[in-house]
Amino acid sequence: MPRATAPQTLSREITISGHGLHGNRPCSVRLVPVASATGLLFVHTPTGTVIPAKADLAGDLVLSTTLVKDGVRLQTIEHLLSALSGLEVEHLRIEVDAEELPILDGSAAPWVDAILEAGIQTLEGRRRFMKITRPVEVRNGDRWIRVLPFDGLRLRYVIDFPIPALGRQSRELSLTPDKYRRELGAARTFCLAQEIDQMRARGLALGGSLDNAVVFGADGPLNDSLRFEDEAVRHKMLDLVGDLALLGAPLLGLVEAHAAGHAMHVALAQAILADPGCWEWTEEGEPANVQFFFHPLVALPA
Ligand SMILES: [Zn+2]
Repeated sequence: MPRATAPQTLSREITISGHGLHGNRPCSVRLVPVASATGLLFVHTPTGTVIPAKADLAGDLVLSTTLVKDGVRLQTIEHLLSALSGLEVEHLRIEVDAEELPILDGSAAPWVDAILEAGIQTLEGRRRFMKITRPVEVRNGDRWIRVLPFDGLRLRYVIDFPIPALGRQSRELSLTPDKYRRELGAARTFCLAQEIDQMRARGLALGGSLDNAVVFGADGPLNDSLRFEDEAVRHKMLDLVGDLALLGAPLLGLVEAHAAGHAMHVALAQAILADPGCWEWTEEGEPANVQFFFHPLVALPA
């Protein structure tokens, strides 16, 4: 799948249903192709409220990403946004009949499968990228996230949890639709077993189970198996891709995150949008691989 140079939507509509992770309520999501490049627009069908997927509408960011507009909340949007952004589908109407999107299997894989089943088609015009020209950083104690100028979109993520079963994990990759699908999309959300009582007392994770999350106990995962040895850091990267979709346009830069989460991912997107001096529009998303022609034996990093 080559990188898209034109804006993309789906070829036909498709509906997916399931239960929310936090509220455990049923929800149907209808993905509807659009005729022109209008971005990603959520529609809360019970009220008719249209909520653009934009960082300035992000509200509650505890353990999921929520958009809020005119008193309507749409919670846990990040895995669908991640699948769409990872596959470069940036223009779509997303009709939702409840306030929390289905968690499905806890990863973005069911969304990826649905998108590929519906098919992807291009729209008129050129895809426009936000190219980072100056570093932007958000820091909160030991946790930080920053973006630096880079040709392409590269992600570098480190997590460090104080239990041996999880510990420190790091991963880095240059994002393409194929790499997204193979390396990030199937990584499931996760939590620590010791956090579950506290989350439920706050009304969170009420729909959570070993069918839609990896739960790490003191000795290892309570699930039968992991999909990747470092599934946890891959899921954080999946979340990051989804939260960065709230920029409203694809990003060109190197994003480095250390022990970050939804709140910091969204804070970075807001900081980028708030400072037009640190980025510029470009239609050149694919770096010219000049090195290939002069040094054909030098392999570029993955
Ligand atoms: Zn997630």
